Amino acid sequence: MTRTEVLLKIQVVNFHKKLPFMKSVYNFSAGPSCLPEVAINGAKIAIENFQKNGISLLEMSHRSSPVVNLFAETTDNLKTLLNVPDNYHILWLQGGASTQFSMVPMNLIPENGSADYVDTGAWSAKAITECQSVGKVNIIGSSREAGYSYIPKDLVRTSGASYIHITSNNTIYGTQYKNYPALDNDDSFLVADMSSDILSGPLDVSKFGLIYAGAQKNMGPAGVTLVIIRSDLAEINYRNIPTMMRYSTHVLKDSMFNTPPVFAVCVVNETLKWLKSIGGLNGIKQINNKKAGKLYDEIERNTLFKSHVSEKDRSIMNVPFIFCDNKIADNEFLQFCDKRGLKTLKGHRSVGGFRASIYNAMPGSGVDALIAAMQEFESRYI
Ligand code: PMP
Repeated sequence: MTRTEVLLKIQVVNFHKKLPFMKSVYNFSAGPSCLPEVAINGAKIAIENFQKNGISLLEMSHRSSPVVNLFAETTDNLKTLLNVPDNYHILWLQGGASTQFSMVPMNLIPENGSADYVDTGAWSAKAITECQSVGKVNIIGSSREAGYSYIPKDLVRTSGASYIHITSNNTIYGTQYKNYPALDNDDSFLVADMSSDILSGPLDVSKFGLIYAGAQKNMGPAGVTLVIIRSDLAEINYRNIPTMMRYSTHVLKDSMFNTPPVFAVCVVNETLKWLKSIGGLNGIKQINNKKAGKLYDEIERNTLFKSHVSEKDRSIMNVPFIFCDNKIADNEFLQFCDKRGLKTLKGHRSVGGFRASIYNAMPGSGVDALIAAMQEFESRYI
């Protein structure tokens, strides 16, 4: 066979059989969501034979040195990426962000105290409900009346409130803080639920007393929740609460008071290593801005679709959009996308329409494929 014939044969084979690097499906799910391919591969190896120990990570004791080292390395990678100051602890907990809705007020509001909350959607509302069973909540801003389409800016603090709680990115409504609320010069601090935008770009951790985030969007699989807590706050002891609900319990035991979610932490570590290899949080921020910018431009340009989110508050992680009018059923576009391998684009049931979650691990080619589908769909109607 000549060289040209060989090349031709390879092309024909590749045409029929997709090469491993050609992605045929893009997962736009809001969470659990797509993970970097290298993280999935790292997870596979860990399941089969963790660090060449001849044992699967799934069968290893959390007291064994490979696992203790894994936790230390994961914490170290997170600290490096986020440039976490020395006076903060990193905790790997269970119970999801939803458990933090309770742990935060239980630990951080004194008896008869209160906290300020900003209501920017369903997840903030859940945090507020949980806080109300512990202490007084002052809702100092809400965009509820406007369908949570913007981030409230004019917040009037309550004197004596322990902290301000915000949801930095609103997964369902597609809003995101571009500037965090400024604090007065008092003892209060900022608490943020960053479940859906943690690690999407650089962050000044020193502005926060506590940050929490479920892993299953930008970090890894469900099962582990990251907490970053300022060390003085971890020592507070306002009331008698269950041992597992106390931050100091987990600080004292390096997140190993009970059996921790070892496998989930391993996948988080693989994701963190991947983030470091592609230029850290500055690198990913540029990529995220580019992906989101392109998609919002197409939503603006396309005659069929529109965004209901205030332009300056639009999330670079979750991009909801709707049809401009109700002449076409949502399902028609969803099925059109599904056939092209563009999966889980249905908007949250409370909002309707569509939502493209374009977390860190969504490749630019996924966003390009979605834009191409939107354009092709439009051409059917004009
Ligand atoms: N906060 C936000 C912003 C979320 O998006 C979610 C989950 N989608 C949660 C909290 C709840 O997280 P979990 O399921 O980990 O409790």
